[in-house]
Amino acid sequence: MTQKAKKVIKFNKNLERLVDDMFYAMYEHGGVGLAAPQIGFSKQIFVINCDTERLTTSEMVFINPKIISYNGKQDGQEGCLSFPGMFVERSRPETVTVEAQDIHGKKFTITVNGLAARAVLHETEHLLAKEFDSL
Ligand SMILES: [Zn+2]
Repeated sequence: MTQKAKKVIKFNKNLERLVDDMFYAMYEHGGVGLAAPQIGFSKQIFVINCDTERLTTSEMVFINPKIISYNGKQDGQEGCLSFPGMFVERSRPETVTVEAQDIHGKKFTITVNGLAARAVLHETEHLLAKEFDSL
């Protein structure tokens, strides 16, 4: 985590291709989330899929995400595809509400919990160079 990634302005075919590549890289490395800077693109995009069966219907794309609020606390191990095989104990909020844009640029707000909340916070940290620990 170093610099803040750039906001996405153009929602076009190149963006779709990048998101496809991100899912590919994420599955290839067995992760539940991946941020664009991790594959060399300094853009505010991350993808997650917290479904144990990896159903494509569970794929989620967050572009220009903003954490609106977070609540509660969960303890657990957290890994990162940039540091394969390394897990650290990290307390996180249990629930998080995030506002973002989808692949077409449409704004949405979603509240997630558990592993998805952990993944959203972890990936947002990759993009915004800001940390979100439990309160
Ligand atoms: Zn990571």
